[in-house]
Amino acid sequence: MSKALLHICCGPCAIQPVSLLKEEGFEVEGFFYNPNIHPFSEYRKRYEAVVIASERMGLSVIYHKYDFEEFIRKISCIENREEQHSFCWRIRLQEAARVAREKGIESFTTTLLASPYQDVGQIKALGQEVAAKYGLNFLARDFRSGFAASHKASKEWLLYHQNYCGCIYSEKESIEQREKRRKI
Ligand code: SF4
Repeated sequence: MSKALLHICCGPCAIQPVSLLKEEGFEVEGFFYNPNIHPFSEYRKRYEAVVIASERMGLSVIYHKYDFEEFIRKISCIENREEQHSFCWRIRLQEAARVAREKGIESFTTTLLASPYQDVGQIKALGQEVAAKYGLNFLARDFRSGFAASHKASKEWLLYHQNYCGCIYSEKESIEQREKRRKI
């Protein structure tokens, strides 16, 4: 059976990709690496949700480092928000690819492809670019069709649901948008 390393951004988004990849015949291993989640209390909530979800799914997960200091140092030098997103997707895909190669796993992908809030086209392109660099196969699936089913299951499992993407910039944007909507 061929193995796939699945980068996991959060518990709710992992449910459908794990099930779809298993249906395709992959032996799936999770990889939780998200230095873009701030503050640390929020990171812990998402981490715990992945622990619960992976236990429910019988999924083995690598809980990788939380090198948020380096992330903050680098992202704060980027002014453009689109470039910040790209940087943020790229570093997580690169680390997933590096670990997949180290472990002899030929294929990798990410639960970021399950989110209707992310730029799936750009994430697929970045994944393919990173895969070529590491000599791996990027599973450029569109997991978004399973988003509603994933979130229904995650509510039944009482998983934590975040209300912003992850970084401190997105937390500010999310609060501002909610305030704006309340004023309309
Ligand atoms: S908004 Fe999301 S994708 Fe963009 S930099 Fe922040 S955490 Fe990363």
